[in-house]
Amino acid sequence: MTPLSESTRKSAEYFSKASEVIPGGVTANIKYFDPHPLIMEKGKGSKLYDVDGNEYIDYLLCYGALILGHGHKQVFEAVTKQMIEYGTTIFGTPHKLETTMAEKLIELYPSIEMVRYTNSGLEATLLAIRTAVAFTGKSKIAKFEGHYHGGYDQVLVSVNPDMELAGDQTEPRAIGESRGLPDYYLENTIVLPFNDLESTEKILRAHADELACTILEPIQSGFIPADQEFMDGLRKITAELGILLIFDEVKTGFRLSLGGAQEIYGITPDITALGKVLGGGFPVGAVGGKKEIMMITSARDGRDILTAGMDNSNKQEPLYHSGTYNGHPLIVAAGLATINELEKEGTMDELFAITYALREQLERAYKEHGIIMQTIGEGSIFNIVIAEGPIKNYRDLEKANLQLRKEIDYKLLELGIYTKPLNRYSMSIVHTEEDTERTVKAHKEAIRRVLN
Ligand code: PLP
Repeated sequence: MTPLSESTRKSAEYFSKASEVIPGGVTANIKYFDPHPLIMEKGKGSKLYDVDGNEYIDYLLCYGALILGHGHKQVFEAVTKQMIEYGTTIFGTPHKLETTMAEKLIELYPSIEMVRYTNSGLEATLLAIRTAVAFTGKSKIAKFEGHYHGGYDQVLVSVNPDMELAGDQTEPRAIGESRGLPDYYLENTIVLPFNDLESTEKILRAHADELACTILEPIQSGFIPADQEFMDGLRKITAELGILLIFDEVKTGFRLSLGGAQEIYGITPDITALGKVLGGGFPVGAVGGKKEIMMITSARDGRDILTAGMDNSNKQEPLYHSGTYNGHPLIVAAGLATINELEKEGTMDELFAITYALREQLERAYKEHGIIMQTIGEGSIFNIVIAEGPIKNYRDLEKANLQLRKEIDYKLLELGIYTKPLNRYSMSIVHTEEDTERTVKAHKEAIRRVLN
């Protein structure tokens, strides 16, 4: 294995070792990059440290999850307190914190009246979709091209489609994104063009009788915002057609505002999926929505799934939702500690201010070097796009100079700035002005090295 540079030789060695026992050397395909990913050993605040002892300012932040940075004191204390005071890691029964967190989410998210927990964002969108299918009695779903909702069959469709196969922009074809996806899902997942209300409406009207829901990332990939008129129109049309609107706020939740994208857009989705920040660095997901919809999972109103068939009740069976670790007390404690920190006066404003200052300085730095670049995003996530013109959807992004961006990203790794090549930037409340100054300086040096 050739190391990225001499200073990452140990990473290359560990990766070779990992590749003998873990397919591809990574536990999620997304974590790989050429010639080998960096193997991290330590995190502290805004920094990551690899096995070679190199320090990086971390902008990956576990794909946005670590809004308080690494090893935040309040999260550590909340988790240890929970274990020490109550004597166990998990009860395996209902417990008080589940309700405390549900009440908090209901207070923060305009559309949420009831909550169920899952173990990941993937499970949250899966439960949201199953809830919509059960509630409407319809079986197809609609999703937008380029939107990611987790790696399972129903939604692993047209996330990063090959443009040669993807069809017309106004009527994208459903393209499977993995080997092993049964055709059933491609036939039952309708793909929509993001930020194109007219075409979206046309497709939704054509399939209205069979569509249970439309799911979307209000900010695609965390950085391409939906236009306000598009959102308003989508809410209106889905309501008219009896198609439930699901906001996948796994990435945007707590990052655009404490009440997510829905608070900013002033839109009330029928169901919301949450994850990432909500777990304070631990695996989590949650589904929330209107009471009448969420009550469909209630075992008390119908027959318990395991006793179904044992009596003659005419009551409807509930939607099946389970999970050994759902509502894990340590994770809920970490999540509550995280929200508590974010709620402190001025915290979110400071986070947004440092994010926008960094964006502005980066834009200036690229301009000085004659590179046409724009930063795109909302709140505490953004991306660097080397392209002219508005970026409104997946296809616009394809026009960006990804090659130059990638070359700069590799140089940035050598200069101690970490985000996976081509990945977006997530900020935390512990990033400092010293960090952002170092980051801008590193970008200037990276550009200089690439252009010379
Ligand atoms: N939805 C969105 C918008 C995401 O960004 C992700 C993960 O990146 C998921 C769902 C899946 O979440 P998880 O990785 O926790 O399963």
